[in-house]
Amino acid sequence: MSDAVIVNRALFDEVMVPNYAPAAIIPVRGMGSRVWDQQDREYVDFAGGIAVSSLGHCHPALVQALTEQANKIWHLSNVMTNEPALKLAAALVANTFADKVYFANSGAEANEAALKLARRYALDTVGEHKMDIISFGKSFHGRTFFTVTVGGQASYSDGFGPKPAAVLHAEFNNLDSVKALISDRTCAVIVEPIQGEGGILPATTEFLQGLRELCDAHQALLIFDEVQTGVGRTGALYAYMHSGVTPDILTTAKSLGGGFPIGAMLTTHTIAAHLKVGTHGSTYGGNPLGCAVALAVLDTINQPAVMAQVLENEQLFRAELHRINAKYDVFSAVRGKGMLLGAVLNERFKGRSRDFFLASAEHGLLSLVAGPDVVRFAPSLVITPDDIREGMQRFEAAVAQVVQATH
Ligand code: PLP
Repeated sequence: MSDAVIVNRALFDEVMVPNYAPAAIIPVRGMGSRVWDQQDREYVDFAGGIAVSSLGHCHPALVQALTEQANKIWHLSNVMTNEPALKLAAALVANTFADKVYFANSGAEANEAALKLARRYALDTVGEHKMDIISFGKSFHGRTFFTVTVGGQASYSDGFGPKPAAVLHAEFNNLDSVKALISDRTCAVIVEPIQGEGGILPATTEFLQGLRELCDAHQALLIFDEVQTGVGRTGALYAYMHSGVTPDILTTAKSLGGGFPIGAMLTTHTIAAHLKVGTHGSTYGGNPLGCAVALAVLDTINQPAVMAQVLENEQLFRAELHRINAKYDVFSAVRGKGMLLGAVLNERFKGRSRDFFLASAEHGLLSLVAGPDVVRFAPSLVITPDDIREGMQRFEAAVAQVVQATH
């Protein structure tokens, strides 16, 4: 019966809830940083499934981990623990500030756990009044009702009834705006070391240091949302390692699974102790399949040679973007770090990131936007220099097309 259905983009509009507007193409397979669509047209992948496919498509180590685990055991629930989850938690603990790990299935769920833990910790250690959460304009933390309310775009949380209360928004990279809101009622400050969806905006080291000091002064927890920046994406295992500022709670997802849905919340002994039996949970969180894949991702990425490659790839991306810009004058800056980069459109092309995204696809390149003014690149961390050069040739053709159409 299902074989009789014609599977094309039109079917999406027929059978899917219309909350997405997917591209016209339907990719059917991928290998490394190349993807092929239903018509066998090939694309260079600079999008990485929105900063997820950290080792490209069908990396042999991940295919092996997934198939080996698939032939052992897929699911148990948290009524029992399992070997891959314990190994992955031990690896995360060994390689970060954290002592304890909670597994979820997505970035939003990891943040939901972090925010609930912060509230519970404050309630247990201080009292009911200590519940304010401070986050930042343009931040993005996921789409559950709590995380989307904490996120910095009110339009994403409007229209769903009463929002979770005691959520305050300060201005990113502006410590004075935090000082104006923080008080003994604050239980946590949550921040992305580089705002991803908000436009690839890095936090300054002084800003992160200032947040740490303000949190310490007010007995508030500092939460780093590293869902987009984590697992080697910026050339360090986690972006906090560049700044020297250590959070109390860190959330990670996306690159951690390399394409398999998994999220995690990392924290210390003292704080973790407040998420007692029964306070929080998930049927699938820490499932053997996801954890086996994530362990292979972590083992493969957490190597000095890979971290060095991420930074070399960044230099090549920046050089190529500079070359294209010298010819066409479309960007005012390139922001970000490692394999999370944003080319900021200049005045003349402001608001037109989607045009560059669409033209790129026409020329055989998968790219991303980060808001209307930024073209975003979040490819595989191990993309080869040849694939970068080939992708940039296609991007150049796309830029030329947009510029020509603008005259
Ligand atoms: N936090 C950050 C910084 C993100 O960039 C995202 C997704 O883009 C999320 C949280 C939400 O992650 P997920 O879509 O896996 O729920």
